[in-house]
Amino acid sequence: MVIAGAGPTGLMCALALAREGVRVVVCEAEPTLTHDLRAGSFHPPTQEMMAPYGITDQMHARGALQVRKWQIRSRRGGMVAEFDLGVLADVTPYPYRLHLEQHRLTPIILDILRQEASAEVHFGHRVTGFEPGPHSVMVKFESEGIPGKLEASWLIGADGGRSTIRKLLPVEFEGFTWPEQFLVVSTPYDLGQHGFAMNAYVADPTEWAAVFKMPDAGPPGLWRLAFPCDPGLPDDALLDPILVQTRMQGFLANENGYEIRYASIYRVHQRVASEWRHGRVLLAGDAAHLNNPLGGFGLNSGIHDAVNLAGKLAPVWRGEEGEALLDVYVQQRRKTTIDQVQAMSIRNKRLLEERDPAVQKARMEELMAIAADPQRARQYLLESSMIAGLQRSQEISAG
Ligand SMILES: Cc1cc2nc3c(=O)[nH]c(=O)nc-3n(C[C@H](O)[C@H](O)[C@H](O)COP(=O)(O)OP(=O)(O)OC[C@H]3O[C@@H](n4cnc5c(N)ncnc54)[C@H](O)[C@@H]3O)c2cc1C
Repeated sequence: MVIAGAGPTGLMCALALAREGVRVVVCEAEPTLTHDLRAGSFHPPTQEMMAPYGITDQMHARGALQVRKWQIRSRRGGMVAEFDLGVLADVTPYPYRLHLEQHRLTPIILDILRQEASAEVHFGHRVTGFEPGPHSVMVKFESEGIPGKLEASWLIGADGGRSTIRKLLPVEFEGFTWPEQFLVVSTPYDLGQHGFAMNAYVADPTEWAAVFKMPDAGPPGLWRLAFPCDPGLPDDALLDPILVQTRMQGFLANENGYEIRYASIYRVHQRVASEWRHGRVLLAGDAAHLNNPLGGFGLNSGIHDAVNLAGKLAPVWRGEEGEALLDVYVQQRRKTTIDQVQAMSIRNKRLLEERDPAVQKARMEELMAIAADPQRARQYLLESSMIAGLQRSQEISAG
């Protein structure tokens, strides 16, 4: 079996397949694991899925932050509602979000994967195409400019949002791109002293923000903030240090000035591939779906795809199950992506950016009422931590 891409989805899928005894080769285009500042908030079910492989323990051991409480705030009015994941201790052994940078997660999975005799990871191997056959798929790659081929029983495209595999398939990447870009800024300045939980969403019609505390290399950690920014300005203007400092000062005045460790811009999409399986080629992770980061669902969904797909592909590969089981992967994961991840991430963004003061006020009052009612708060947490959506997806079976 060949997997294109050694991002979190591809590595997790490879590990789960290798543990089932499947021979798996991961081809990664880059010479090393990518180091970009991306996602880093892991919901309880994702921690549960990674635990049997020893990943979750390693994340804890390497300083991941346990984030039990998260907040919804209003930029103009302060705290609106606080939710405590501790109330879910009866349904999950991990009643908190775990914060660890994506580039600290992938080396953990890779180290564990390298102990598996049936798995190989080839860096500097860019998958360039494939030729489908009746019983296998010929995967074409390029390494140091030299083309090569690998015969695989199945090909998994876990090659990210710009997936080559998806683009070569007759599928649409349905959805839309938000007009504004996101500015992501990291500072060691402690927002906790101002009452911010390690995860907070701050509503405002023009200057909404999402706040995540990340562990960095160790204490004091870094506070990462995401803001919307003007789509009309080029990246270098948006990343101008004076402008970044002004945005931060506008968010929370700091007379000593903010130390800015990182600042980056990225474009955000809401898209889902129209099909996730075409014969012996399957899509997973960002190759199959993209969403905005409000709610922290992107990377979590990729891990959910990987574990679900491996659990079905292994018995199909061994001949214990028919190929129809792979369509259950598509039905379960695609439906959950559309009904839960797309819907919740779009709703979260619209909640934060609502421009009509009366509507915004009504929404904030509704959130206060939910937080004040233990039954409703529990249900809200089950949904927002992806537990309820996963339970519903398990009810989808063949046919
Ligand atoms: C700038 C940025 C910020 C983000 N911030 C957040 C966030 O705050 N919260 C959140 O939930 N999500 C966020 N995301 C999304 C999150 O990072 C992704 O959901 C996650 O990385 C998905 O993992 P993946 O393995 O599916 O894809 P990726 O991490 O993109 O990995 C794909 C891998 O495939 C490799 N590859 C590409 N093409 C080929 C090829 N042809 N052959 C072989 N290998 C190939 C790439 O080099 C890469 O290593 C962010 C994404 C970006 C880009």
